[in-house]
Amino acid sequence: MDVCPVDCIHPRKDEAEFAQATMLYIHPEECIDCGACVPACPVAAIYESPDATPAHQKDLIEANAIFRLGDADAMAKAEAIVAKHKVDHADIMAVPAAERQAAHSRF
Ligand code: SF4
Repeated sequence: MDVCPVDCIHPRKDEAEFAQATMLYIHPEECIDCGACVPACPVAAIYESPDATPAHQKDLIEANAIFRLGDADAMAKAEAIVAKHKVDHADIMAVPAAERQAAHSRF
């Protein structure tokens, strides 16, 4: 995302994994917690902190942590978590982004 001042959302468009990844990952050690990405996320999938993340989204925090390891095995493990998340929460994933944003605010 262009909004990130430290370019810590991966894979970036110039990274080899970009074409394969089903989710963008925030590198937890590169992130400076500026919060710019929270309102900018087009699918309302970023929260201000782990504490602010709804319970049904917390598995994706683990996916971010694993992805930061940076190798193909880590990417596969992170993508497996995302794939399971999409199956487990198919009802949420099917909701348009604006409605999802409103639904998230209830948690
Ligand atoms: S909160 Fe982190 S990921 Fe989000 S824009 Fe700021 S530095 Fe980037």
